[in-house]
Amino acid sequence: MDVSHLLDELNDAQREAVTAPSGHVLVLAGAGSGKTRVLVHRIAWLIQVEHVSPLGILAVTFTNKAAGEMRHRTGEMLQISTRPLWIGTFHGIAHRLLRMHHREVGLPEGFQILDSEDQLRLIRRIIRDEGLDETHWPSRQAQWFINARKDEGQRPKHIEHNDHPVTATWTHVYQRYQEYCHRGGLVDFAELLLRAHELWLEQPEVLDHYRKRLQHLLIDEFQDTNTIQYAWLRMLAGKSGNVFVVGDDDQSIYGWRGAKVENVQLFVRDYPDVATIRLEQNYRSTGTILNAANALIAHNQGRMGKKLWTAGETGKNIHLYAAYNEQEEARYVIECIKRWIDGGRKPSDAAILYRTTAQSRLFEEYLLRESIPYRVYGGQRFFERSEVKDALAYLRLLNNPNDDAAIERVINKPTRGIGEKTISDLRLQARESGLSLWQAIGESLKQGVLASRAASAVGAFVKLVSDMQERLADFTLGNQIQGVIDDSNLVQAYEKEPSERRETREENLRELVNAADRFILPGEDADAGLTELQSFLSHAALEAGETQGEAWDDCVQLMTMHSAKGLEFPLVFIAGMEDGLFPHQRSIEDAGGRLEEERRLCYVGMTRAREELCLSYAEVRRMHGSESFSRPSRFIEEIPEELIEEVRPRAAIQRPYVPASRSQARDRVARTHVPNQAWPFKLGQPVVHKKFGEGTVMAFEGQGDHTRVQVNFDQAGAKWLVLAYAGLQAA
Ligand code: ATP
Ligand code: MG
Repeated sequence: MDVSHLLDELNDAQREAVTAPSGHVLVLAGAGSGKTRVLVHRIAWLIQVEHVSPLGILAVTFTNKAAGEMRHRTGEMLQISTRPLWIGTFHGIAHRLLRMHHREVGLPEGFQILDSEDQLRLIRRIIRDEGLDETHWPSRQAQWFINARKDEGQRPKHIEHNDHPVTATWTHVYQRYQEYCHRGGLVDFAELLLRAHELWLEQPEVLDHYRKRLQHLLIDEFQDTNTIQYAWLRMLAGKSGNVFVVGDDDQSIYGWRGAKVENVQLFVRDYPDVATIRLEQNYRSTGTILNAANALIAHNQGRMGKKLWTAGETGKNIHLYAAYNEQEEARYVIECIKRWIDGGRKPSDAAILYRTTAQSRLFEEYLLRESIPYRVYGGQRFFERSEVKDALAYLRLLNNPNDDAAIERVINKPTRGIGEKTISDLRLQARESGLSLWQAIGESLKQGVLASRAASAVGAFVKLVSDMQERLADFTLGNQIQGVIDDSNLVQAYEKEPSERRETREENLRELVNAADRFILPGEDADAGLTELQSFLSHAALEAGETQGEAWDDCVQLMTMHSAKGLEFPLVFIAGMEDGLFPHQRSIEDAGGRLEEERRLCYVGMTRAREELCLSYAEVRRMHGSESFSRPSRFIEEIPEELIEEVRPRAAIQRPYVPASRSQARDRVARTHVPNQAWPFKLGQPVVHKKFGEGTVMAFEGQGDHTRVQVNFDQAGAKWLVLAYAGLQAA
């Protein structure tokens, strides 16, 4: 058998991993060393050489996009249909399992996925219903609490609160939330994983079936699995499954969301016979980029440690640009991209990476101005737009009218005279009698407890939904969506908005109909017994948080560093390299490992670059409505100076003296620690500000009129202020 197509283009260590005998394998290696490539080749190897049935393989990746690519690559290599292969994200795979086994886990057949926005709405409502004051009990915090508990595998009954009032209250909210979801057949993202785990725990014969069938489990980006994902995996593997994981502890960047890099150590402990393979050659980046990334990450403690090298070229130095403000930064980046394109390169070769989504707006503005096509990932994605969600909510009611979240969303959209009072009465009735809102509405109408105006308005809504269900039942998906948009008269809800906005909404609704027309029921969903409608709704919910469609059109790519994981681009910009923004202020203040996680994020960002990397920072940045001065990110300092070439601001060249060199940036940081006669306060001195209240002086920088002072306010947190205008008083 000729297997050269599986093994050519692999180095020795990669080949060792791909061809490893059955058993457990851990591939631990740095960025760009071919981990993902090895995983794909391993799948092909198992099928072609080991004669493993495609039905016996489960491969898990971090994004739907990566899953799609993996499927495509495998199909190409093997020239077989990849339909029987289970390839997907943990959430996607859990969803599929639950569809097939909804009865065993106690879910209705038409259960609906609740995305995080709808989840938050529902939680907010519960908090209000419980009579809690939202300023003290913020719904986001409750959402975070609930999801974190679920990620740890805990139901309300498992949470010990030992009279701890905050935990006790959130546990109570969790309990109520769970009841609502149960009545409405709603499943949030964390619940998908939790239920899939409970399926294993409570249905041994189902587990046994999958254990026998799925003998080979392969996981990419293993460093970012959380507790419940790992527990799920271990149960599935049992004693006989072969687990093949690839990962990089230096790229663990989702700790804030419950990911446990410790799972790598656990894995080695739980499977003592594991073969650990390290890949050390990087095929992605130039020597310069790689050395810079290696030097940066060396500042973290307790790494598993690895050295990456490349046989590739040294390449250009890393560019560092000190912009005066964020506009100037955007202008510079776009100018570079323009030059790149004028030089014959493709727009899609360039990526602009940043720490927070809000940073994309200015880049978009400048790209538009230059008519350069671009695409933002992680902004408000199509399925998250409110009109699209409104139409989908009607569609969900066709599928399942007990979906409380959908009813809440559209019961009075467009307005049909159902007042807030009526709705809260209905909620109360639902809660008291343990019914869904839809059922409570039915009961109230039957018993005639609503005032006559309210009753007729609510009655009209019930009739609308029932008529739609009947009229649209046999329509194609596209026609169903068009039908709910027409019948509900949804566009009326936007009537009072400015015409431009309204037109965009209408356009988006048309696009939704098109998307439904184009939708083809994926084979694996058909196998799981999903209807076209259910499958479409699930895709809309599961992919809302991610890229979709013709993502790789020839556009400049804009995204956060988090969403850039696993990807690569010839030209990469990392913007906003400022202390407080990146590393993020929260992580600087945090005593735990957050700063190290930010550093890993920086490592991920830098190692996306193949040929050129450009870092930039703004000296002044407007954020949250106020301007602040910042110092260059400490991460810049951690890159060896000789790998960096500072690009001078264009405007500065006309000045007689250029103060913005890198060593001066360094001085500026250092200066903050040296006392200066001209400072009216001492470091550490308590001060008072009119608006921000009391605080402590942390640092000074700049001179004369430009002197800035950093104060850590007790209430408002750390801020940079211009000393001359701050009006600070000694406390
Ligand atoms: P990350 O940690 O960022 O996820 P990775 O370790 O998964 O990276 P890959 O994305 O698999 O790395 O590979 C990085 C790049 O190197 C890809 O362009 C891949 O095609 C290429 N590559 C990997 N191995 C080889 C090889 N043996 N020969 C040539 N190119 C390779
Ligand atoms: Mg990878």
